[in-house]
Amino acid sequence: MGQVISVVNQKGGVGKTTTAVNLAAYLSQLGKFVLLIDLDPQSNATSNLGVSKDLDKGVYEVLTGPHSFREVMVDTIHEYYKLIPATVSLAGAGVEFVNLDRREFRLYDNLLEIRNDFDYIIIDCPPSLGLLTINGLVASDQVLIPVQAEYFALEGLGQLISTISLIQENIKPELDILGAVLTMYDKRFKLANDVLMELYRYFPNKIFRSVIPRNIRLSEAPSHGKTILAYDPKSKGAKAYERLAREFVYHTSPY
Ligand code: ATP
Ligand code: MG
Repeated sequence: MGQVISVVNQKGGVGKTTTAVNLAAYLSQLGKFVLLIDLDPQSNATSNLGVSKDLDKGVYEVLTGPHSFREVMVDTIHEYYKLIPATVSLAGAGVEFVNLDRREFRLYDNLLEIRNDFDYIIIDCPPSLGLLTINGLVASDQVLIPVQAEYFALEGLGQLISTISLIQENIKPELDILGAVLTMYDKRFKLANDVLMELYRYFPNKIFRSVIPRNIRLSEAPSHGKTILAYDPKSKGAKAYERLAREFVYHTSPY
């Protein structure tokens, strides 16, 4: 069975999408079969991969309708790396979801038929703890939490952890926190070191050693519709995501 990992933090702009898109790229480069699901109405992951959000079908049509993930899956430029795009219709999902049967399980249910086709299914969640993110968490085996190296980084982490605990207690006991990854790190700022120390208190033994530096190339790649692997594989940002992918495989391997 493929492992499902959601990239979650209800705080906006902390590097969720950058991490999801580029981690998936390096996992595919390691020869893993990877599916990225764009679960965010902003469709940033979709556009970061150079895919149009104006497609007529995407994740929303699967979650709410008769379509299957196989029908809406698209290729990326990377071998072994496929995408379930978010289209504009996902923006209305919050309201419409409320009346659906098994509304917290829509993603989980629909993933069952394709889980075996992939080694990893990575879910890019929106910056909220609403029903879309709940769907992401319920569908997941593990959670990866990007944390931005800044002063207020840890604000809201308590709420995120209690949401995860609620899902563990009521819906999915086996849901696990894989770890936190520090993003946009700049070692010149002492502040970031404080954040790191505080983070260790939140997630003992669960902080990835691979830290993602603040890197201009990482912020440029999306406007070219490319992963950092395609845009500038020699950049510091690329090297960091490559290391993260190796560490990620190590921590998610069953053996
Ligand atoms: P949202 O909550 O809106 O979904 P997010 O958590 O997915 O945001 P990203 O979109 O990945 O965050 O990143 C926010 C912005 O910061 C983007 O413009 C992105 O290109 C930039 N960025 C992310 N990581 C880095 C980095 N390591 N170095 C430089 N810029 C970065
Ligand atoms: Mg995002």
